Amino acid sequence: MRPLVAEIDLGALRHNYRLACECAPHSQSVAVIKADAYGHGAIECARALEGLAPAFAVASTEEALVLRHAGIQSPIVLLEGIFEVSELALVDEHRLWMAVHTDWQLDALLAFKPRQPIPVWLKVDSGMHRLGFSPPRAEQIWQTLSQAPQVTALHLMSHFATADAEDTDYLQYQMTMLQALAERLDAPMCLANSPATLAHPVAHGHWNRPGVMLYGSDPLEVANATSRQLAPVMTLRSEVMAIRELEAGEPVGYGGRWRAPGRAKVAVVAAGYGDGYDRHAIDGTPVLVNGQPARIAGKVSMDMLTVDVTHVPDTRIGSEVVLWGRAANGAVLPVDHVARYCDTISYTLLTGVLPRVPRRYHPCPPSSPTAM
Ligand SMILES: *Cc1c(COP(=O)(O)O)cnc(C)c1O
Repeated sequence: MRPLVAEIDLGALRHNYRLACECAPHSQSVAVIKADAYGHGAIECARALEGLAPAFAVASTEEALVLRHAGIQSPIVLLEGIFEVSELALVDEHRLWMAVHTDWQLDALLAFKPRQPIPVWLKVDSGMHRLGFSPPRAEQIWQTLSQAPQVTALHLMSHFATADAEDTDYLQYQMTMLQALAERLDAPMCLANSPATLAHPVAHGHWNRPGVMLYGSDPLEVANATSRQLAPVMTLRSEVMAIRELEAGEPVGYGGRWRAPGRAKVAVVAAGYGDGYDRHAIDGTPVLVNGQPARIAGKVSMDMLTVDVTHVPDTRIGSEVVLWGRAANGAVLPVDHVARYCDTISYTLLTGVLPRVPRRYHPCPPSSPTAM
């Protein structure tokens, strides 16, 4: 069979989640598993974290229902709330928690009669300028929601625009606004994404919302002592399927972008943009061949890519190729490192691995939900 697989190390996922908790010992951490757990498989990741994470977060009711249908019983937060009024019935039936970020959601909630009150996270726009109410409006709505019979466990929620950056000015600007608001309302908060969880204790609230760090990607512009301990969860692994010997000047692949600088050996690897490997990868993008560093040479094709292995001894057909993650010899190629060569971020590479790449889980998660 074609050798390309995405191996998912669920032990590493649990390790990373524990690190998020250790960073913020006075907070509870929602495990963000939206977008199919950033491409890692939401059901398997949720099962691996059940009992460890007190709640999960997703981007839509659809994503929450996938988890409920798989038997996940933990609280699940809808980070963007509902998209249609009719979803409130599902929120109620499946005991989901919801963000409220806009007036129509608020009106719909206040007109709804749930069987039990719904935990609500009121989203305030503290400077991201994407979702949420202005601070003065959030203050009014807080008063309404804290009296509303439809609502329980009300929290303030906000999101940072620059928590990953070394320059903390804008984060501090957002925090000043949020702290003033929380103090006036005596409101518990949920603010921190991964970089704020890792680097900004001031932003740790009643709840935090780490996402990408759970998958072993370091979101910080400048790594810190904790982020260096993150372990890669996904290894995108394939094999050499052919080897070419080239003379100086001979080109490789579409457009002949790369030319052999001298006599060269090029390995053809079974992985391409049709699998989600980024076609923007430039010549020189790192891979591991037999656990040794090597570099992409030539444009990525749909099903294949080519690697200069002139200086990698013992490369043969069937040699292991790691596109990111951990090689059999223990060498690690961080997905963050690859992303820089593709002019992107780890988030797009991880969520971009396409369904045709089989996911293989280690250790295997229990196949059915634990009996209640
Ligand atoms: C995705 C998301 C997160 C997690 O962000 P990371 O950078 O992956 O940690 C947190 N909060 C909200 C609202 C999100 O949409």
